[in-house]
Amino acid sequence: MINLIESRSPHAPADLVASFPAAGEAGVQTAVRLAQAVQHDWSSRNAAARAAALARAADAVEGAADELAALVVREVGKPVTEARGEVARSVSILRYYAQQVFDPAGAVHEPSGPGLSFTRRRPRGVAGLITPWNFPLAIPLWKAAPALAFGNTVVLKPAPQALACALRLAELVNLNELQVVAGDAEEGAALVKAADVVSFTGSASVGALVREAAVRRGVPVQTEMGGQNAAIVLPDANLEAAAAQIAAAAMGFAGQKCTATKRIITVGNGDEVREAVLAAVARLGLGDPSDPGTAVGPLIDEAARDRVVDAAASAAGAGGRVLTGGRIPGGVAGDGGRAGWYVEPTVVDGLPADHPLACEEVFGPICVIQDATSVDDAVALANGVRQGLASAVYTSDLDRALDLSARLDTGLVRVNAPTTGVDFYLPFGGEKDSSYGGREQGKAAQDFYTSIRTVTIGPAG
Ligand code: NAD
Repeated sequence: MINLIESRSPHAPADLVASFPAAGEAGVQTAVRLAQAVQHDWSSRNAAARAAALARAADAVEGAADELAALVVREVGKPVTEARGEVARSVSILRYYAQQVFDPAGAVHEPSGPGLSFTRRRPRGVAGLITPWNFPLAIPLWKAAPALAFGNTVVLKPAPQALACALRLAELVNLNELQVVAGDAEEGAALVKAADVVSFTGSASVGALVREAAVRRGVPVQTEMGGQNAAIVLPDANLEAAAAQIAAAAMGFAGQKCTATKRIITVGNGDEVREAVLAAVARLGLGDPSDPGTAVGPLIDEAARDRVVDAAASAAGAGGRVLTGGRIPGGVAGDGGRAGWYVEPTVVDGLPADHPLACEEVFGPICVIQDATSVDDAVALANGVRQGLASAVYTSDLDRALDLSARLDTGLVRVNAPTTGVDFYLPFGGEKDSSYGGREQGKAAQDFYTSIRTVTIGPAG
């Protein structure tokens, strides 16, 4: 029996966007063998040839920008303004790594005797990339572009919900050195068993499986997972600006970003923060993601939508207050009346810090407000979860900003900036359970996709 991988539009679930036979374990092994077969040739081409190939890919993606943005909107329900931004970022990622091939590939060292000692970077081989659906172009590219730039070949296993985006992207990149395999857990696990280096982004539970399997084989692995990201609002913050950023970071793209704000921590200013945040949330447009006025579109599927509704109900059952949202809205159905997977942006307060909604990621437009009694208490609350991806601090006091940026246990600390927002030229990753195995993006990617060989040459005579 053929196992089909299908994706459907979250706005109009009757709209089947992609349907493709799953590769199966054998299909993954074949793809890895093909990638191995061309890897030596790819890595032995000079750097300028690899740069030119990546630059051509950037031009092709840029030329298809409108089509790609529309596909992202349709397949994963990302609001069109954000979808366009993701396409632009994808082009930038390709151009950035096209230039990085010219970075030094090693260093010359003093030899211990006569002769020469130097180091040289070499590619690891076939990179197995396993990606989520929420950044269906940017995440595959922020892994594939550096992998290719530094001489690896790539087998990409995208999330089933974003299959059409990945297949179209690969067509545009148009390199034999990048192959896409359709599939889900079986194919992902098969790729981890066969690749020479593994990069995964997705949920914490799957990330743990991927990490264990790769470590058992002894291949380099990085896993980027979820966050429970806090925004601390100090009394000296510009409250209006902070509230607008927090609302967008918690609810934009229906909260489906690993860096979305999940907790808002107040410090003696709880009433004002509640009022400003609720007003900012109420201003966000909820509805059809193809409408440029929309900030909050649908969730990826029915189960994701139900998790948000259930989380709000469970918070209310545990003594929390649902300050806004928690319900399925009327009037935003796609597909001529068959509802898309929408839920109202939801803000909850009054929960103990160990309530699941305060410490486990619910991947949707829902966040909690927590009241701290002091700055130290706010830092303790922010750090008191297992995740450590991103945090935000809102203050006009530079000393406070520097102090907190040193004390928060997150890979990204953003002062007077939202927890969301990632710059492709800076290292990206988290602490604690959010990440494992080295940073992605920026210059950090070179370390992951290459190993260093130390060469010592003595005199012949
Ligand atoms: P997911 O973990 O369900 O799936 C991720 C990928 O893993 C998919 O391609 C899936 O098919 C594959 N997979 C599933 N089971 C597997 C297995 N047993 N072995 C190997 N691969 C397997 O995640 P998702 O729902 O696609 O994405 C949402 C999650 O991703 C959220 O938790 C979010 O926080 C996280 N995320 C993290 C970052 C980051 O950079 N830290 C960025 C975006 C999303």
